[in-house]
Amino acid sequence: MPELPEVEVTKRALIPHIEGRTIEKLEIRETRLRWPIRVDLLKKIENEIVISLSRRGKYIFINTAPGTAMIHLGMSGSIGVLDQFVPPKKHDHFDIHLANKKIIRFNDPRRFGCFIWAGKQPEKHQLINHLGVEPLEKDFQGEYLYRLSRNRKTTIKAFIMNASVVVGVGNIYANESLFLSGIHPKRRANNIGKKRYQNLAQTIKSILTKSIEMGGTTLRNFSFTYGKEKIGYFKHNLFVYSRDGKGCEACGSLIKRIVLSGRGTFYCGKCQR
Ligand SMILES: [Zn+2]
Repeated sequence: MPELPEVEVTKRALIPHIEGRTIEKLEIRETRLRWPIRVDLLKKIENEIVISLSRRGKYIFINTAPGTAMIHLGMSGSIGVLDQFVPPKKHDHFDIHLANKKIIRFNDPRRFGCFIWAGKQPEKHQLINHLGVEPLEKDFQGEYLYRLSRNRKTTIKAFIMNASVVVGVGNIYANESLFLSGIHPKRRANNIGKKRYQNLAQTIKSILTKSIEMGGTTLRNFSFTYGKEKIGYFKHNLFVYSRDGKGCEACGSLIKRIVLSGRGTFYCGKCQR
């Protein structure tokens, strides 16, 4: 599943192709994504200039004067920039035609992605308005996690994966950042001190930043598969994720796997307390 770094990398890769350009028309081949594509509403971006491209959580915002259209990559979505005459492949559900004869093409075999009209105040849209802070912004700090966690008896892993607390800490990043912070994933959120939260927040920032720099992980089948702007995705150097039964890089103990909130959870019982 594309995680925040992949979405951020996709956004950055698209910016030079789409910002400041005019959208000529939309070509929708399949409306049945996670939510039905409302062609009648999205048509408002036709003949408009893209003022900017931005990201909130895992949504990419295409900002135009009449309002914002949002794209989510779901479980298996990818976006490419192609010449307009390239015939669509299977699962190429829609194209955004630009006036310069290029198209932004969306492919999604599992159709959990979406293309949604969010109007003039996208931050108030129901898919956005409950989202917590952005992990790479200044307001995401250990102090913030500490304050918010005082009455939370949930596990620390569920706490940092809760999008209303902080967005974009997916399962891989939660596992890895807890290992690097030495925090046991089952520890209760309200049972962790300020200093450890400061360490954890910095670790989350640094892991996400590194992953964005490396072009995201290649886990699952996310790829910027189209066009000439191919990005080299590297597999992030994973310490615990999917390494159960292997030796911990720090102490040599075997990495364990449990299931927490339905998600595979990997940790070193010696390094994480
Ligand atoms: Zn260890």
